[in-house]
Amino acid sequence: KITLFWFRRDLRLEDNVGLYYAFSQERNVLPLFIFDTEILNKLEDKCDARVGFIHAQLQRLNQELAAFGSTLLVKLGSPLSVYERLMKEYDIQCVYTNRDYEPYARERDKAVGELLKSRQIPFYDFKDQVIFEQNEILTDSGQHYKVYTPYSRNWKAKLQSTKLTPLHLDANRKGFYQTKPFAIPSLMDIGFEPSPIQIPPIEINKPLIRQYDKTRNYPATAGTTRLGIHLRFGTISIRKLVSEATSLNETYLNELIWREFYMMILYHNPEVVTQSFKKAYDAIPWRNNEAEFTAWCNGKTGYPIVDAGMRELNATGYMHNRVRMITASFLTKHLLIDWRWGEAYFAKKLLDFELASNNGGWQWAAGTGTDAQPYFRIFNPSSQQEKFDKDGAYIKKWVPEWGSESYPKPIVDHKFARARALETYKGAL
Ligand code: FAD
Repeated sequence: KITLFWFRRDLRLEDNVGLYYAFSQERNVLPLFIFDTEILNKLEDKCDARVGFIHAQLQRLNQELAAFGSTLLVKLGSPLSVYERLMKEYDIQCVYTNRDYEPYARERDKAVGELLKSRQIPFYDFKDQVIFEQNEILTDSGQHYKVYTPYSRNWKAKLQSTKLTPLHLDANRKGFYQTKPFAIPSLMDIGFEPSPIQIPPIEINKPLIRQYDKTRNYPATAGTTRLGIHLRFGTISIRKLVSEATSLNETYLNELIWREFYMMILYHNPEVVTQSFKKAYDAIPWRNNEAEFTAWCNGKTGYPIVDAGMRELNATGYMHNRVRMITASFLTKHLLIDWRWGEAYFAKKLLDFELASNNGGWQWAAGTGTDAQPYFRIFNPSSQQEKFDKDGAYIKKWVPEWGSESYPKPIVDHKFARARALETYKGAL
């Protein structure tokens, strides 16, 4: 009999809660990863760097498992069909995994859990992706929070009494299924190709985090940790990162709390995937001009800080947070294009794409989200540039033709666009 440990967005052996318990409590644990065709088939870009990243991590895991005399089993298909096949191939005693909170993942896990249950196979899931789950931080009256600041206060208080001791696999225990390594399908086998985009290293840069509150807002400098993709796919442990953050920099810790706040919001309000968090804002008559949207996507709006951000995103799969706020505000307020268009574009391009944070970030920028700030906060791209890229170093890097004849004229006048946005929002609410 074997026990399956199902990897999803927790691609590491170290300090992996579900894996640790499977390994310590069961025998013959066979780690599994499913390339889910329900997800892969929706990706338009067959060179998607995130798929290449996952693939590289699976190879690394397979090597690390070989040191335990074991292997990783990699399958391609819809999870239900893969489990149907696995139940024929193996005598499965139980399945362990870590919880995943996105709407699709919850449905998937419910269906897989039911299938396994129908064959008397228990399905055990653990908290691994966050410090506190959706129902762990509640108001005094037992409600989930709708505003970040009191949530984060409560989150920090609860952290005081929470142990974050890392979980190591004991090399002397033969917890894993003992076998020669299985071959992992190639990227080509699953219908993808390598991407030229570079992935930032998994590294906790302590000096950087210590300075984070001072450096985080300047896109020309390497002032943020670039760990987004590693948090997305679990190649770093959130417990380890939070343990470091608590002693290094409070502003940095606050950002990690934003991540959990948005996950909690998405969990309790799954409708925000398609609707505004503040429902009334769905009455805004977006202009949705396609030519203007294309200019924004391609970094050709004539607003250099906006264009630099979009070009950085297109070239690297990354955009600095300050510039994400500026570009998102520009799309929704200056161009009056539906935040869902921008959200979908970021979702395609960002290496660190996270449904909860992306949706939260876009709704924040559009003024439709959880933020207490009123909609009439409209970023002025020129003063943002003046404040956060004073000498133009970031802009020059991404928009070398800035200032020359070939650089486009502004797609819309700032004053005019600001007044139009205010009028449109006011009229709709
Ligand atoms: P650091 O500044 O070093 O922060 C460390 C980690 O904290 C990040 O990796 C991330 O996991 C978390 N974090 C930081 N800021 C935020 C935030 N405001 N909200 C939630 N988590 C945060 N973040 C994503 O992880 N995925 C997204 O798809 C995403 N889309 C965004 C869209 C918009 C319009 C905006 C305004 C923000 C978005 N963010 C998103 C939040 C933030 O911009 C990124 O997390 C950050 O820029 C990633 O860079 P970093 O890893 O260097 O982060």
